[in-house]
Amino acid sequence: MALIVQKYGGTSMGSVERIKNVAQRVKRWHDHGHQIVVVVSAMSGETNRLIDLAKQVSAKPDPREYDQMVSTGEQVSIALLAMALKDLGVNAKSMTGGQVAIRTDSSHTKARIQHIDDSQIRSALDANMVVVVAGFQGIDDHGDINTLGRGGSDTTGVALAAALSADECQIYTDVDGVYTTDPRVTPKAKKLAKITFEEMLEMASLGSKVLQIRAVEFAGKYHVPLRVLSSFDEDVDGSFDDTFRQTVGTLITTDEGDTMEQPIISGIAFNRDEAKIVVRGVADRPGIASAIISPVSQANIEIDMILQNLSSNGSTDFSFTVNRGDYDKAMQILQEHLAEIGGKEIVGDNKVVKVSLVGVGMRSHAGVASQMFQTLAENNVNIQMISTSEIKISVVIQEQQLEKAVKALHTAFGLDRDDGESKVAGL
Ligand code: ADP
Ligand code: ASP
Ligand code: MG
Repeated sequence: MALIVQKYGGTSMGSVERIKNVAQRVKRWHDHGHQIVVVVSAMSGETNRLIDLAKQVSAKPDPREYDQMVSTGEQVSIALLAMALKDLGVNAKSMTGGQVAIRTDSSHTKARIQHIDDSQIRSALDANMVVVVAGFQGIDDHGDINTLGRGGSDTTGVALAAALSADECQIYTDVDGVYTTDPRVTPKAKKLAKITFEEMLEMASLGSKVLQIRAVEFAGKYHVPLRVLSSFDEDVDGSFDDTFRQTVGTLITTDEGDTMEQPIISGIAFNRDEAKIVVRGVADRPGIASAIISPVSQANIEIDMILQNLSSNGSTDFSFTVNRGDYDKAMQILQEHLAEIGGKEIVGDNKVVKVSLVGVGMRSHAGVASQMFQTLAENNVNIQMISTSEIKISVVIQEQQLEKAVKALHTAFGLDRDDGESKVAGL
């Protein structure tokens, strides 16, 4: 029999009815004799509600207190699910991150898991219990609660699966797998039976929030078999047999398969959380990039794409993108440093998005960029910035053109499903 870690996200835990459904599903797996550890998120909307509360009380909430509070959503979920399981006759026990002893560093709001003590979970499993663990949280050396960043319950699931050497980590969500692009943007998106870790990592880091990036990193590093599947699909009976393994959801694998058969593009990711900042009229001299970027990075603001224009008369424009949430702060810092940098003015646009083509097959094919740019041009989409790597090409475009761009690229790169439109559960 297998040891399986199942993670249920916010929508899957979104109401009393859904929590009872999750309990039924967990029971089916447990009834098949598997050892089951469940990781849950807060009920949908709850984490946002808590964050909003904190912001109403304080413009800059204290990070320790912030984590103390936003982690409570998961504590409610674990207890509710454990109650529902007990009502079904399943011996279950809920545990917070601290109770398990999921040790993290002390970087509040974006902590990293450092160590998991699996002894309590193992003894509960040996006693035939289902253990329900709060996602998104851990405890540091001072005994303080730390959260793992938005979407962090995925990482809790994968980290527990690694610590327990589980047979599989199953990420149950509101879509039935990883698609060629977000099925909410185009109903022509196709479900992928498999995707490589490398591609999934790229998709996640470029904005596909179906899996948190750290979860994919962790799974790749510790070889955790990882599957994304739907918590709404009623067909699965809980047997971990070949049919299940080969047909249900999307498996994230290390196997690149036969590169000859590899599609050039596996998926299209996008990120709506982008903002662009341009420092105009700076001197084209050594050290200018560092003079602009350093004060921004020192404020812990991550910089993504960078573009320096050709200079004319020794003066140039320097552009970069940041997360939209950091836009105001970055603009303010640069204004304060403008005299020192020696620039003319700073202009910004927080209504831009990044669209990226991802695929390991791109390595062996030239011409992907030109086809991408041509498709966007034909659709009157203006490209503001471009960045490339071996397996992805990203462009920054205007926010209002996002859907049009994704749909056009999806069709142009042959990703559209051939049987019409998708019927994703929960959509
Ligand atoms: P959960 O609450 O279960 O963690 P999330 O909302 O974090 O769920 O992630 C699931 C969502 O990810 C889907 O509803 C879908 O809109 C979005 N998504 C983005 N890109 C993709 C993709 N390539 N494939 C599937 N879903 C995607
Ligand atoms: N509840 C947390 C969030 O909304 C963690 C998660 O859902 O994975 O970000
Ligand atoms: Mg999520």
